[in-house]
Amino acid sequence: MCYYRRVEESFTEREIFVPARILNGNAIRDEIYAELKREIADLNAAGIRPGLAAVLVGENAASQIYVRNKIAACEQLGLGSWLKTPSATATTEELLDLIGQLNESDEVDGILVQLPLPDRVDTKTILAAVDPAKDVDGFHPMSLGQLVSGRLCLVACTPAGCMEILRRSGVPIEGADAVVVGRSDIVGKPMALLLMHANATVTICHSKTRDLPDVVRRASIVIAAIGRPAMIQPDWVRPGATVIDVGINRITDAAEAERIFANVPAKLAQFREKGSVLVGDVHPGVAEVAGAITPVPGGVGPLTIAMLMRNTVKAARLRREHGHATPGSVSGAAAAKP
Ligand code: NDP
Repeated sequence: MCYYRRVEESFTEREIFVPARILNGNAIRDEIYAELKREIADLNAAGIRPGLAAVLVGENAASQIYVRNKIAACEQLGLGSWLKTPSATATTEELLDLIGQLNESDEVDGILVQLPLPDRVDTKTILAAVDPAKDVDGFHPMSLGQLVSGRLCLVACTPAGCMEILRRSGVPIEGADAVVVGRSDIVGKPMALLLMHANATVTICHSKTRDLPDVVRRASIVIAAIGRPAMIQPDWVRPGATVIDVGINRITDAAEAERIFANVPAKLAQFREKGSVLVGDVHPGVAEVAGAITPVPGGVGPLTIAMLMRNTVKAARLRREHGHATPGSVSGAAAAKP
């Protein structure tokens, strides 16, 4: 199937294929890293080396890759990093003890607890034990509360990264109709709050939303954070809309890959070579309808790590300036600033 965008020309009106502008997350990440390097150099000159401690419990292969990438980013930027690897049998009490030590350490500015934690561990208790001043993932209830009330805080990395993509790509947010599909604590909810603080009119959708395609079709900004491969279909998207695809799904089933990537030979070739391929929550055909879209991979993912780095630098600065992440405004442009 092909999807076309109507383009008006001065004398005739015709339908031609206009592919969406690709919002390149890697390029935006590089821009942010260049800014961070300058800020880190200033902190170093003042005798401060911001540092991140990562807690990786057990042997989850995907988590190991995510944490490795985060530590590599610290090394690339010259940040301190510590990797703590309690075994999969660690108890909530043992993890609380470890978090307590990291909270106490003056060298550690940011604490990252890689999720998911093993089932036996009380995840909410662990996340709430992180010192809010070191909560670089933005998952602490106090961080979420500050975000709700529009105060400057350590904002969850993935939604903060989506805002960077929108802002740095010049997508108008104020007054825009934005639809966020997904309402998780780590993506959907903070995403909706950030868009609201930036003066978008926000609709939050979830698994019980009625007539989801119709709701999505109203949006000029669509954020897909669902965890369902290629769910947002081309005919759900308003022509010209900006689509931010947060989803990362690995397809290993040949029939599913053939169905989703029927018109994307490069992805099918990748699947045949490697036996798997990544797809977002947005169908590839949406790129033929949207005005701008993030790719998967190479869209939101690089920004999530960039925001973690930025939060670590921000936490280091705020902890020295105020002893904690101080209140302020997250509305408008201020929300984009470290
Ligand atoms: P969750 O599973 O926590 O939340 C998914 C949300 O999608 C829920 O609110 C759920 O609704 C909603 N949903 C599920 N099915 C439907 C449906 N059929 N129709 C409408 N809504 C639906 O996922 P996360 O928020 O943690 O992650 C979302 C995606 O983003 C995943 O693919 C994940 O891998 C990816 N991700 C990517 C990151 C990155 O760096 N790029 C970082 C974090 C996540 P309900 O609440 O009703 O159950």
